[in-house]
Amino acid sequence: MKRIRQAVVLAGGQGTRLQPLTLTTPKPLIPIHGKPFAEYLVELLKKNGIEEIIFLTGYLAEQFPATLGDGSRWSLTIRYNQTPVEDETGERLCKAAHLLDDDFLLMYGDNYWPLNLSKLLAHHERMGTLATVTAYDRPSTDSKNNMRIEDGMVRMYDKTKKAEGLNAVDIGFLILSKKILEMIPEGNLNFEKTMYPALVAGRKLAGFLTCQPYWSLTSIERFPAIERALKSSRKVLFLDRDGTINKKAPLAEYVPNWSVFEFLPGALDALEELAKRGYEFYIISNQPGIARGMVKEEDLRDIHQRMQEALKKRGVTISGIYYCPHGWDEGCDCRKPNPEMLYQAAREHDIDLTRAYFVGDDERDKEAGDAAGVQTILVPEGIGLAAALPQLP
Ligand SMILES: [Mg+2]
Repeated sequence: MKRIRQAVVLAGGQGTRLQPLTLTTPKPLIPIHGKPFAEYLVELLKKNGIEEIIFLTGYLAEQFPATLGDGSRWSLTIRYNQTPVEDETGERLCKAAHLLDDDFLLMYGDNYWPLNLSKLLAHHERMGTLATVTAYDRPSTDSKNNMRIEDGMVRMYDKTKKAEGLNAVDIGFLILSKKILEMIPEGNLNFEKTMYPALVAGRKLAGFLTCQPYWSLTSIERFPAIERALKSSRKVLFLDRDGTINKKAPLAEYVPNWSVFEFLPGALDALEELAKRGYEFYIISNQPGIARGMVKEEDLRDIHQRMQEALKKRGVTISGIYYCPHGWDEGCDCRKPNPEMLYQAAREHDIDLTRAYFVGDDERDKEAGDAAGVQTILVPEGIGLAAALPQLP
């Protein structure tokens, strides 16, 4: 497999939509929790083994080296290529040609997505294209969509977002071959507007679909979400329910009501301890007893309400409960080992899943957690959460 050691960040724009903030600070340097947004990107790239980052700057360019330095703080190299403010992204990229590796990662300076470079690169290699773009997987009814991705390839790109059948939105994080630069026409052109349609027409643009939420510095309204997602002290723990918190019913039986619900030994103490350590808790549970008619949905809600009341007495708040009511033969998206419930929680609560933990007692929990990039701990049956305590920071 190829290795990608270089990342190129488009950071020259004026960020007019974020005025007045951007009158004095370029968008990628806007502080989130007192730290410039770009530093979160540098940390993300470092975690993915990137050794050199090139910021393509323009507007208020001098602030970048003054803020980020030469990268030695992160034990990597940061370089800057400053060009005129009015340069479009294609032009900025062409002017940096002398600095570029044969293959590199290109990203927007205002998008944070929990990058997994090796997964992205594996897709790029499998498709054998000159370029692979990352796109967020959305229902085809979503009006923000600007791409149609099928079988790993971008079939359509529509910047106007009006075409039928669009199923994803471009979030950057492209793997590019430097050869692409030779295909960019002369002139001051926008990279995606010019190159995506040309690459799609030549079947040279792969699309890596992700359900992993991303966060953009696009408008002030989105700042609280970005702050939640990037808060470094935040600790998130997903918990399976039956067999992890409470005693599991025998095989093919379910916990039908509160009278037979029983916390596992040590589970309450463990939750209390974890709450003191600052964790936020979310339950992720398969409840096929509903589909099978053995558990009533109202009884399930009653169990959860009483469970939360019992936990509250121990200082434990559950921030969200997600359950799949379907049977194992219904082919739904939500039943574990599918990761959909984890993605739903991540979307609704702005959780960076790659920094979260998941404790369960079943191989399906592990599969779901691995698919969503969550650090998953399996505990032995009958012991539950208490067994995971030493492994949780
Ligand atoms: Mg379980």
